Amino acid sequence: MARLLFAKLAELYEQLEKITSGNAIRALISAFLKKVPKKNVEQVTYMTVGQIASEYEDINIGIAEKMVLRAIATTADKDYATITALYKKLGDTGLVAEKLVGKKRKNLPVNEVFNALHDIARATGAGSQRKKTLILAHLLKTASPIEARYICRIVLGTLRLGVGDMTVLDSLAIAFTGSKKAKKELEQAYNICPDIGIIAKTLATKGLKSVRKIKTVIGRPIQMMLAQRIGKFEELKEKINGSIAAEEKYDGERIQAHKKGRTTILYSRRLENITREFPEIAEQIQENVKAKNCIIEGDCVAVDAQGNLLPFQVIMQRKRKYDIQEYIKKVPVCFYVFDLLNLHGVSYIDTAYPARRALLKRIVKETQRLQLAKQIVSTNLDDIEEFFNKTVERGGEGIIAKSCASNSFYTPGKRGWLWIKWKREYAAKMADTFDLAVVGAYHGRGKRGGTYGALLCAAYNSTADRFETVCKLGSGFTDEELKTLPKKFRKYETKTKPARVIVHKNLVPDVWFTPAIVVEVVGAEITQSPIHTAGKGLALRFPRFIKYRPEKKPEQATTVKEIEAMAEK
Ligand code: ATP
Repeated sequence: MARLLFAKLAELYEQLEKITSGNAIRALISAFLKKVPKKNVEQVTYMTVGQIASEYEDINIGIAEKMVLRAIATTADKDYATITALYKKLGDTGLVAEKLVGKKRKNLPVNEVFNALHDIARATGAGSQRKKTLILAHLLKTASPIEARYICRIVLGTLRLGVGDMTVLDSLAIAFTGSKKAKKELEQAYNICPDIGIIAKTLATKGLKSVRKIKTVIGRPIQMMLAQRIGKFEELKEKINGSIAAEEKYDGERIQAHKKGRTTILYSRRLENITREFPEIAEQIQENVKAKNCIIEGDCVAVDAQGNLLPFQVIMQRKRKYDIQEYIKKVPVCFYVFDLLNLHGVSYIDTAYPARRALLKRIVKETQRLQLAKQIVSTNLDDIEEFFNKTVERGGEGIIAKSCASNSFYTPGKRGWLWIKWKREYAAKMADTFDLAVVGAYHGRGKRGGTYGALLCAAYNSTADRFETVCKLGSGFTDEELKTLPKKFRKYETKTKPARVIVHKNLVPDVWFTPAIVVEVVGAEITQSPIHTAGKGLALRFPRFIKYRPEKKPEQATTVKEIEAMAEK
């Protein structure tokens, strides 16, 4: 293929829609990638996961369903009412476009589609809605019916082929190194550079050697390091050798701040740009971090006038589009920094933690709103317990114990034993919570008529890139929360089972959802169950809803491996 035609990609998508086996999906994509001209590999990778750029880049096509229907009307030279009537019947803009627009010839290059989609994204400001619709109408004019189907779906973010970034990494490994073995190294690079397009392009054009050399870059978020959990406090000494840096665990929002000259960008746990939500923190970093260019990380937590720590629900009020200035005063926050990943362009993720913290201390000038995470370094568990008690008294969630050994590196995206959490719930012997992706729902009856009776929740199997069910969640909701369930989930409804969701035939829900919303759930115990699909059939008994976790992506839900480890305990 000297010039890759979009029709070929559309054919691939049509085939992918028909299969559900993960291995078959990987085989199809890798066979396709092998034939793609190297210059198109990046574009193909983005589009196959339903995007036109990496998520962190803040590039939004910004077209609503109505506008797509208008573009179809223009292209097909039909009135809007005819189009909406057909849409009501078919329920998918892609299918409407396929029926009404399109030439027979399929000679549209992938390049042209990709660039047109970026043109649509770039149109902003006054008159942009019209401009976007026109560019799309023009593109649809040159497309064949099947191409039109997939263009509309990419534009609206409803491609849903059941292909996640992890599946693409597998396929890339097979296509360009000959076996799945290289996936581990690709995943490592992806954790440092969570941009599937860059990984694909580097691998296709420069090989695995260059992928291994991918470093942290200021302005490109890094997957965040995570903490392991233990069952008994004494295990801390077994898991961490030598000195332990015990730090307050803040019940706030994790933020990775990238300072580059005069701009500071704040990234959330989902690697979304959330600078708009916390402008005062970006300002604090600009003024009080004495380094021109750096990446620092910490937790942003709501505080009261005395500086006491307030629970997560309070900072969630800052997740808003409007009245930001008002809420800066109403819900004041403090950014507690605990790590340094890059300084003046030099990556520090492979430097031991004590040295990273020492550098951090050197560049951060503490203020009321910007502080270093409070810490003690000790080998003595009694000291650490005392520190834990003090933290809880002050409103903290517990502590994170960090290794200070020579290999205490920052491990992007990994939940390893270099960081261990000990929360007040564990100390009180209360059950830990699970963060689960909602994949379906059952209609309610009686008192719950008109809403859902229960949600079907799944853990993430990170090896297979699938969502496996662990419980039906029906309790713990307030009346108000119950009432609003259908509205909250409507956007994610799908007609058929999403490909990455694995469910037992006796548990098929009334409504399917693309995994998108994550809920925090507490359960009494983990048991064996013949109807749940997590691992070898693990289920969470007596689950209760605690809260939504909007800062988490479904792929950041509790993993099947973690549940297996907990069940063993
Ligand atoms: P949890 O629900 O227990 O917070 P989690 O899955 O969100 O778990 P973990 O990796 O288990 O995240 O715990 C690490 C989280 O704790 C980080 O994402 C961060 O937001 C928060 N945190 C608070 N204080 C610290 C600290 N001093 N060092 C590291 N992480 C901290």
